[in-house]
Amino acid sequence: MEILLATLNPHKVKELLKILPGKTKSGKVLIYKTLADYPNLPDIVENGVTLEENAKIKALFGLEHTGLITLADDTGLMVDFLDGEPGVKSARYAFPDRCDNKANNEKLLQKLNGVEPEKRTAQFKTFAALALPTGQLFLEVGEVEGQILTDFKGSGGFGYDALFFVPPYNKTMAEMSEEEKNQISHRGQAFRQISKYLMEL
Ligand code: IMP
Repeated sequence: MEILLATLNPHKVKELLKILPGKTKSGKVLIYKTLADYPNLPDIVENGVTLEENAKIKALFGLEHTGLITLADDTGLMVDFLDGEPGVKSARYAFPDRCDNKANNEKLLQKLNGVEPEKRTAQFKTFAALALPTGQLFLEVGEVEGQILTDFKGSGGFGYDALFFVPPYNKTMAEMSEEEKNQISHRGQAFRQISKYLMEL
């Protein structure tokens, strides 16, 4: 049974393939495709005003254009001192028309310049959406608490990981192994929960 992961982000795909089940409860093998397998599709217009809406938009886009059961996520970094910024704009924080991770991280550091460590608290939040050809749509959420550092630490992960310090582990997400990150991450939590619906297919 083929499942579409509605993303072109190779880091996300790598994480998801380690989190998601390989078989359903009844023993059907799950084969995961990504948007890279469908190069002629139009771009997804992520015009939702919340992460939840964007996750649904991506899942429904995949289902509509490929007919496949589709999984998608939308993730945001919410920084308390910045009243929840960058939030739904996490991908295009520095530039409104494109995702530049380096520039996004630099903008974040600049906005938090001089802010004490205790006030640099933040959360990563993921909404995972599963759209089925039956018209059913399932949503799950995952969240992890952390702190934005004043400088980058670690070389793993992607996006804002090297600035996101997780106190109970004394590491940034970029210093964690893939397994460690998946075990505690926003995405790991949301997709482990959504896996229960895949298992029933
Ligand atoms: P999206 O879910 O792909 O729209 O992600 C929004 C933004 O958050 C992008 O800039 C990503 O690089 C960043 N992002 C998403 N997931 C993660 C993560 O697990 N760690 C760090 N940054 C992330």
